[in-house]
Amino acid sequence: MSIVVQKYGGSSLEGHARIEGVASRVAALRREGHDVVVVVSARGGTTDSLVEEARLLAPEPKQRELDMLMTAGERISMSLLAIALNAIGCPAVSFTGSQVGIITDTRHTDARILEVRPFRVVEELEAGNVVVVGGFQGVSTAKDVTTLGRGGSDTTAVALAAALGAERCEILTDVDGVYTADPRAVPSARRIDAIAHADMAELARYGATVLKEDAVRFAERNGIAIGVGSSERGTAGTIVLEDPPHAPRPVTGLALVAEASLMELPENVRAQVVREFEEAGAPVRLVVGTRSATLVVVEGHPRGGASADEAEVRPVSLIAIVGPGAAEAAVAAAAISVVEDLGCAVEAMVSSGRSTVIAVSRDAADRVIGALHDALLGEDTAR
Ligand code: ASP
Ligand code: MG
Repeated sequence: MSIVVQKYGGSSLEGHARIEGVASRVAALRREGHDVVVVVSARGGTTDSLVEEARLLAPEPKQRELDMLMTAGERISMSLLAIALNAIGCPAVSFTGSQVGIITDTRHTDARILEVRPFRVVEELEAGNVVVVGGFQGVSTAKDVTTLGRGGSDTTAVALAAALGAERCEILTDVDGVYTADPRAVPSARRIDAIAHADMAELARYGATVLKEDAVRFAERNGIAIGVGSSERGTAGTIVLEDPPHAPRPVTGLALVAEASLMELPENVRAQVVREFEEAGAPVRLVVGTRSATLVVVEGHPRGGASADEAEVRPVSLIAIVGPGAAEAAVAAAAISVVEDLGCAVEAMVSSGRSTVIAVSRDAADRVIGALHDALLGEDTAR
């Protein structure tokens, strides 16, 4: 069996014409002789509007019920796509995450996949059907419906590809691949042909939305290559794999968390505040300690850390420079010069592993990321 797992993002399923377009591309793949599993997201904006509706009824809805509600978005997509496939003579069945054996822990709205038991998928493929699966969802060890965190359909696709031993896993979306920076912010950004799992995960952690970090880490652990491409063309412009073939540059790409908050915590509260963030599940992106103070940067506005003084919260943006050599001193030094030459300040900075991460004031972020791209990833920078 040559199994191909394709995931279609929310914008590619908006409106009947697009659903029919996806159906005809899936049917063509089936005719080429592949066994096809299609993972779908909720149609664009659906998940957000479901959550908004819940919040009108209760500011802090019960997480179990939120999960029940949010999974409805993917149910709509999966059944409509299966209906469209059957209508053009391509036999298809749709399933929820729970039906295809995606078993998770009990952390509602941000569950981790523990195991995948895809018996029904295998049975239906053997019977000649295309299998359409609602992404972003599973069933917990306590038998409740769970969701995998926002963007979690990517994780469903990778987990199914691993469990089925698929030949290919493709994430098809509204962009044609992964870029050296978000092209909306940096017009000179280029598409990357091949990128290491480790770099892609780091870019996703620091704001790149094209793939979910969890999905990339899952793929890395299981040796799954992911193709990323446009849902309209149905081909992958970027491949995410363990070891990209060409000798890579020190820097692969840049990512941006536009809205982050930096807190400089005095000695007496720092342990307490960091613990509170952890307990609240706040997206802490940097913790930098010195003898006298600790800097903490969280994504968005701090939730949890009640012991932090509101006055200490400084709005910043985080820019991550990512790549096999991105933590080297030469890159760090170049980055500092770029920021200072623009007359901006480095509010905080950490180099380690495969990244150098810099916090700058929010109004400087666009200029800084553009200048960093020119300096570190411009056409004439050394390969
Ligand atoms: N529908 C979910 C979300 O909006 C999951 C996904 O799109 O991957 O986050
Ligand atoms: Mg996504």
